Amino acid sequence: MRVVFTVLASASAALVIFVSSSSAHGELGRRAADAKGRYVVDLAGESEGAVRKAAGAFARLGLDVAGVDYRQRRVELILTGGTARSLEAKYHIRPLSVEGIVSAVDPRYHTPEQVAAKLKELADRYPRFAKVHEIGRTTEGRPILALEIATPDPVLKPAVLFDGMHHAREIMTPEIVLDIGEQLLQNAKEGSRVRFGPAAADLLSRVRVWIVPQVNPDGNNIVWTSDIWWRKNAWRKKGKVTGVDLNRNYPFQWGKCKGSSGSPGQDAFRGPSAGSEPETEAVFRLADRIRPIGYLTYHSFGELVLAPYGCQGQFTSENELLTRIGKALAESLPTDDGRSHYTYGLSWEVLYQNDGTSADHIFAQFGAPSYALEVNTSFQPSYSLREPTLQKHRVGWALFIETLLKNMLTVRVKDESGRPVKALVEFSHIVHKAGERAFMTDETGVFFKVLAPGQTLLRVTGPEGRRHEVSVTMNEEPQVIEITL
Ligand SMILES: [Zn+2]
Repeated sequence: MRVVFTVLASASAALVIFVSSSSAHGELGRRAADAKGRYVVDLAGESEGAVRKAAGAFARLGLDVAGVDYRQRRVELILTGGTARSLEAKYHIRPLSVEGIVSAVDPRYHTPEQVAAKLKELADRYPRFAKVHEIGRTTEGRPILALEIATPDPVLKPAVLFDGMHHAREIMTPEIVLDIGEQLLQNAKEGSRVRFGPAAADLLSRVRVWIVPQVNPDGNNIVWTSDIWWRKNAWRKKGKVTGVDLNRNYPFQWGKCKGSSGSPGQDAFRGPSAGSEPETEAVFRLADRIRPIGYLTYHSFGELVLAPYGCQGQFTSENELLTRIGKALAESLPTDDGRSHYTYGLSWEVLYQNDGTSADHIFAQFGAPSYALEVNTSFQPSYSLREPTLQKHRVGWALFIETLLKNMLTVRVKDESGRPVKALVEFSHIVHKAGERAFMTDETGVFFKVLAPGQTLLRVTGPEGRRHEVSVTMNEEPQVIEITL
């Protein structure tokens, strides 16, 4: 049987169409066998479970699973022509239609240099509210930049963290995260009410927002210059760039459950050691410093809201809270075709298992509701989708911040002379059994925690075993508990 494959030869050359058969070993065939492109595995007529099983099987084979479409029963893979051919015997696999193929990034999207310039421009334009921080440097020496957005007052406010582009080819994600900064700052400046709800100035009087629009500028540079399907960073092995999957490199449960790969050549390569990469370290060190009460990390694609944890069958002990907020977030986000909304779930429930991810790590360190958002339905969406995507996500992230604040408990611990106390904070319904970090008040004696509605027993333990217990009932109203130890 002769099968026609359409594959992408490289970012610069357009596309190559070749005919594959058992005798197709000519020059064209060989070259095309190395070239990466988008392929769809068609599972029409199969159950949703069968689609999930196939996606999991592809991930375990080390294949690059780009997305899963449950409605159309399709799994999209980024493959070389050769690998695609090897799957043919078992699956209905076809190259994505010609109109779905992009040979280079639309130049209107932000390059790494433009992302950096934009952050500096925002800080220059809104000096009272915004400050750029270099939180690290990549393997190739590019700065990893964060923007801190806050009103200039001395009140200690909880932080919320947003980041984008752990994965180099997910070009919509820095656009969304830059937009978060721009929206908050524009509206804080004008003090006007904005479409997505309360005035940003009001929002910023209650919260600090940190954005890291582009965690992986080295990888994105590769996407702009040589390989639009590049996913990893620019980590080198024996002088050659092979890359680490930054969203499999976080220390918490690193390499725990076959949710990543130990082979440098694979797209889900977890790196030589836990937290080895400068990009990953930049994010988790920043998180250690700001102790976020909530975290959204933007990825593409699949129109999903994914909650911790990523390993098969593993739930956090705050699954009720995560489900509640994650579902509301998913329901606030319509799909690009307008027919439905984003799907909520744990990664192993709706996609495939993963380990060493940023959302799992940040949840485990701070008990912060943390979600990976998979946006759009391709890595290289048409630029015309940018504006509608930013707009719908404004509703999502603003709702997220509002929900966090509404369900937040502030615990303030001091001693009899009024000095802040560094204390262990525990809740009866939260059991740390997977290596999560214990909750502690900071040097100002404060601990912020978002909790599900309902009753829990709060226990605070200070130096010399001094202890205080109090029952707390959360009812979608922020609460402050002052404790003297
Ligand atoms: Zn991603």
